[in-house]
Amino acid sequence: MTSGTMLYEGKAKKIFATGHPDQVLQYFKDDATAFNALKRGTILGKGVINNKVSERLFRLLEQQGVPTHFIERKSDREMLTKKVTIVPVEVVVRNVVAGSLAKRLGLKEGEPIHPPLVEWYYKNDALGDPLLSDEHVRLLNLATPEQLAQIKRLALKVNGVLQPFFGERKMILVDFKLEFGVHKEALILADEISPDTCRFWDQTTGESMDKDRFRKDMGRIEEAYQEVLRRVCG
Ligand code: UDP
Repeated sequence: MTSGTMLYEGKAKKIFATGHPDQVLQYFKDDATAFNALKRGTILGKGVINNKVSERLFRLLEQQGVPTHFIERKSDREMLTKKVTIVPVEVVVRNVVAGSLAKRLGLKEGEPIHPPLVEWYYKNDALGDPLLSDEHVRLLNLATPEQLAQIKRLALKVNGVLQPFFGERKMILVDFKLEFGVHKEALILADEISPDTCRFWDQTTGESMDKDRFRKDMGRIEEAYQEVLRRVCG
């Protein structure tokens, strides 16, 4: 299927052109990176899992009225999507304190956050994806204030759909990162939603079921990703 020209290669995915000018193919790799690519490795089978988990979550979100770039899963590692111009703002939604938020503000990991926190990060590897205020987004011309407001509304809606979905599967949705894109002048959810881009804690044991196992060398990484697939798609 991946016969078109490669348009872009990211850390975990490649994007290929298709015969249709408005559609591209996302190919999910097993490559894993962390700490702005200072740490590199492979999580065997990750690409297949992230593709299937993303498919399930994009379908769920579409059903609930969130527009996404998802069209169809084509194979184990390939997803057909609408072609978008990515807004270079990584949107993080947080329900529980973890990761960079704990470090930056000295907050205790595991503390619930009410109401959920929405943050912007500049999608720029050379700068190390710095945290942005609304006014930085405006200064850099990354999105209009109207687009930013719409992104925030959609991000909170995604959280409102995903939190109970994972709760029913005995998982705590700690935080996650979203990317949005513009397709035919409409803002839609793009990229992926997977254990690479979310933090999930098992509701019973509190154990990490996501890329933190890779970041922190916690072991049993593949097993954790498999378990997420089982709970989400099984
Ligand atoms: N995240 C991501 N890509 C990034 C940075 C963060 O998918 O480049 C996700 C990460 O998996 C977590 C959430 O965004 O679910 C918040 O990450 P955080 O800011 O705590 O950064 P980290 O601790 O991962 O450096």
